[in-house]
Amino acid sequence: MSGLGQQEERASAEPPGQEALLEREAQLRSILETVPDGMIVIDERGIVQSFSAAAERMFGFTAAEVYGRNVSLLMPSPHSEHHDDYIQRYLTTGVRRIIGIGRVVAGRRKDGSTFPVELAVGEVKVAGGRLFTAFVRDVSERQATRQRLQELQADLSHVSRVSEMGQMASALAHEINQPLTAASNYLQAAQRLHARRDEADMPLLGEALEKARSQVERASEILRRLRGFIKKGEPEQQAEDIAKLIEEASAIALVGARERGVMVHFHPVPESGSVFVDRIQIQQVIVNLMRNAVEAMDGHPRRELTVATEPVAGDMLAVTVIDTGSGIAPEIAERLFQPFVTTKSAGMGVGLSICRSIIEGHGGQLSAKPNPAGGTIFSFTVPLAR
Ligand code: ADP
Repeated sequence: MSGLGQQEERASAEPPGQEALLEREAQLRSILETVPDGMIVIDERGIVQSFSAAAERMFGFTAAEVYGRNVSLLMPSPHSEHHDDYIQRYLTTGVRRIIGIGRVVAGRRKDGSTFPVELAVGEVKVAGGRLFTAFVRDVSERQATRQRLQELQADLSHVSRVSEMGQMASALAHEINQPLTAASNYLQAAQRLHARRDEADMPLLGEALEKARSQVERASEILRRLRGFIKKGEPEQQAEDIAKLIEEASAIALVGARERGVMVHFHPVPESGSVFVDRIQIQQVIVNLMRNAVEAMDGHPRRELTVATEPVAGDMLAVTVIDTGSGIAPEIAERLFQPFVTTKSAGMGVGLSICRSIIEGHGGQLSAKPNPAGGTIFSFTVPLAR
């Protein structure tokens, strides 16, 4: 990229002759043809100046179709509406959000489908102003570029400890239930002895009460242990940019979604601000909900997935994942958030119960309701960061 930048700068300092210009163009084209990543050059107004062959393959547009058009064409809503502002903000403030940083963002193909791209943007000063060069890498497809995703996934897999916690909690619940049942039996016996009002039963009565007491103590000991365990796994909450968090989680959740023909829409995510959460846990929830949504739309004629955010009462932010899939099977609707409830042959049925415990751990709520347009709407709330 720097080579290209130098060429551009030389060009601006000293206009080359016609032949040199043609040669330079041919050279540039051959570079563009061979760069494995997609390369897109835009000017300060966001207008596409060049579009490499790899970018054509990735986005499904030909270079001719995008030349002279705004690059926002290549990104899903709401970025498409805001991209001009992003450039403007950079030009006036000089604050870099993407340039030189590199991030996983969502790209939009000609057919409207979205896919995760790793984006790196460089800047080139030319006579008339500036050009921005974007390298895009389709991280949903390219084996060699899976690494960033793997890093994210490694982060997310930490959350499997939450799943262990869920399993442990159910084991512990069983363990607590035993002494409580025993205590209840001893107390019933004590009640019967007491009802007989026979002096001779007094020692037996005392014994039954003592046994009940020790069983209750056992239960409370188990609870103490459980509390200690939960404490260790307490989430590390801090202010996080919700838009970025959703974008990264979607990049993972949407791997393979293209093959399933899913259209993804993002609604007003970028200016939603910061939330006070454990990033990894909340990303795990989003990945779970989005994957469930994608699976629920398999084989359905309409496959639209929408992720939206909206501030709600009590300084909370609601994140909604809407699909147009099968809807919740009636036979599990009542028990949807209980562990081990699944309709999938290979399903564990723990996803939603973990999601709910994560969200409740953040002081929020997770719920599901039917989508009036067919499908399901899952929604959770998390606290906004002040
Ligand atoms: P799993 O995906 O392993 O089955 P989950 O707890 O994530 O576990 O989901 C439990 C069940 O809830 C699923 O098997 C499915 O029947 C139902 N479900 C979850 N999300 C959706 C959805 N978006 N649309 C329809 N059903 C869903």
